[in-house]
Amino acid sequence: MSKSVKEQIEELRRALERHNYNYYVLDRPTISDFDFDQRLKRLQQLERAHPEFATTDSPSVRVGGTVTKNFPSLKHRYRMYSLDNSYSKEELANWEQRIRKRIDSPLAFTCELKYDGVSISLTYKKGRLKRAVTRGDGISGDVVTANVRTIRSVPLKLSGDYPEYFAVRGEIVLPIAAFNEMNESRVESGEPPYMNPRNTASGSLKLQDSTVVAQRPLACLAYGVVGADLPFSTHREALQKARSWGFKVPDTDILTDSLEGVFQFIDKWDRKRLQLPYEVDGVVVKVNDFSQREALGFTSKAPRWAMAYKFRAERIQTALVGVSYQVGRTGAVTPVAHLQPVLLAGTTVKRASLHNEGIISKLDLRLGDAVWVEKGGEIIPKIAGVCLDLRPKDSRPIAYPEHCPACGIELLCLPGEAIRYCPNQTGCPPQIKGRIAHFASRRAMDIEGIGAETVALLYESDLVRTPADLYDLTREAILPLVRMAAKSSDNLIAGIKKSKSKPFEKVLYALGIRFVGETVAHQLASHFKGLDALQRASFDELIAVYEIGERIAQSLIDFFGKAENQDQIRRLKAAGLQFEMRAEPSKKRDVLQGKTHLFTGRLAQLTRDEAKEMVVANGGKNLSAVSGKLDVLVVGAQPGSKLAQAQEVGTVEILTEAEFLSRIGSS
Ligand code: AMP
Ligand code: ZN
Repeated sequence: MSKSVKEQIEELRRALERHNYNYYVLDRPTISDFDFDQRLKRLQQLERAHPEFATTDSPSVRVGGTVTKNFPSLKHRYRMYSLDNSYSKEELANWEQRIRKRIDSPLAFTCELKYDGVSISLTYKKGRLKRAVTRGDGISGDVVTANVRTIRSVPLKLSGDYPEYFAVRGEIVLPIAAFNEMNESRVESGEPPYMNPRNTASGSLKLQDSTVVAQRPLACLAYGVVGADLPFSTHREALQKARSWGFKVPDTDILTDSLEGVFQFIDKWDRKRLQLPYEVDGVVVKVNDFSQREALGFTSKAPRWAMAYKFRAERIQTALVGVSYQVGRTGAVTPVAHLQPVLLAGTTVKRASLHNEGIISKLDLRLGDAVWVEKGGEIIPKIAGVCLDLRPKDSRPIAYPEHCPACGIELLCLPGEAIRYCPNQTGCPPQIKGRIAHFASRRAMDIEGIGAETVALLYESDLVRTPADLYDLTREAILPLVRMAAKSSDNLIAGIKKSKSKPFEKVLYALGIRFVGETVAHQLASHFKGLDALQRASFDELIAVYEIGERIAQSLIDFFGKAENQDQIRRLKAAGLQFEMRAEPSKKRDVLQGKTHLFTGRLAQLTRDEAKEMVVANGGKNLSAVSGKLDVLVVGAQPGSKLAQAQEVGTVEILTEAEFLSRIGSS
């Protein structure tokens, strides 16, 4: 007998959850990415065809889709304290002394890494994620649930013996490798690089479009459990339990009864932290026993039972021996510092990024200077400062070149920008090669088999000058090329052909328009739905789109105004690339499935009456007060007492206006 749709959906959800967990929490995948994607697609298909089985904790929500217009603030049931910091072992020893004076019973401490990201509080009710709230000022924070649901290591549904109601505290981090990759592509497309992984993680949580958040490989590392009746009495057990319920709790923590043990942990990780996939900025030492914690209590800011120890940033002094200039695919000419080679955190450092001329003048850098070099989350380290008292008498100012180091043409200074541009777009080799490489890159058209080396080969043998030329390549043309075996030329042709089905937003990003990075391409694609509409848009229509500023609008208009770009677009269209978004299937009108709704606070987009009508029109019911029968509370600005009442009831799902609108499919 064939399975019912409901059974199929449930089976797929269970399997995908398990694979998610294996991949993102345990780091031990058991199926291929391809296999995973196929099953996810199948689930999405079934869910679209049967919205009556929709839930907010299906693995399909991991890809995002919800748009949050504003993030309401919510009071934490359990305050989110900060931590006291210490910078030396002495300070840590003093803290331990103070504790020993207050506690008679034997002490034990846990040591954990201090993950450098954004703190988050995840509330679970009956084993399901109910909301995610940022720390804010510790007393209340912002509700960012839709965005956090996309983070794969945040379990939507728990397993095992979890309490009825509790919150997990954790840190949302962006792994260093992903951060570097994002920055490389930003610098390439002429956007300023992000400062560090922490800021990027925190900015990601506040993005309105959860689809964009879903594309950032954020991770959530859990470090604590809070609640009224927790089934354990020590922190160590809390971490183990959280792990067993499905949270990602790094297995680096230890339990020790001596300060000596704490110091050993610090020394070990001060050395090894640069090998971790994410940034840590110290160690957190906590009293293990909950009753001892209770006896110690809190100061106005932080628990007395915990102390952070901050690592010193890895810094070293060396000499700036030269500066060279690189030409990117948008023609931006960026300086790179050449250093006297020096050993820093286990690797020899020879270069540092200077990203733009602004830094050179801000630090008043000169050739020959003694400089401090620091290693953070970036691939190449940065110059953190100049030792002015060591400045040699013959130090020379750094002269930005007047001419392109690659093609020799005079460089262009744009008003308000620190870096200069080579205007020779069609004749400057690094720009031409850069555009092709970008077009084919993984995050753009993802054409397998085209790396920097192949691009150089295709360029030098006069076969490819523009992305459109790729689609004219034949097996016969590339076969004679040196280093091109029959197999790899077949792969190349197959890869190019496959790229024709990439969605419009990828194509738009791949075109390599200055300032149009992945996020911007996504916004433009979902707003205009196709290239024709985008090209027709006026400057004013462009800047009316969320997150599109004047700089981007002007860049788009300039790009579409050039004959050579129009020619490219015409040829790419003829080759069969996607220049339109595919239509989204319409939703059925009973998405609310008889659930009872209530509204509180001022709604931004609807009147109360409109909102209530929408509930009924989508198959739901309205209630007039909070009670045990209430399923959903929709919260607007300055919510009234209904919010606290609903939280008290404990089983009411709390939605923002935007979440409500997107649920009924009309955001
Ligand atoms: P601070 O921001 O300096 O006040 O440090 C407190 C923050 O450190 C907390 O809000 C957490 O977000 C973060 N943190 C990172 N790792 C841990 C950990 N293992 N235990 C507790 N807090 C941590
Ligand atoms: Zn040039």
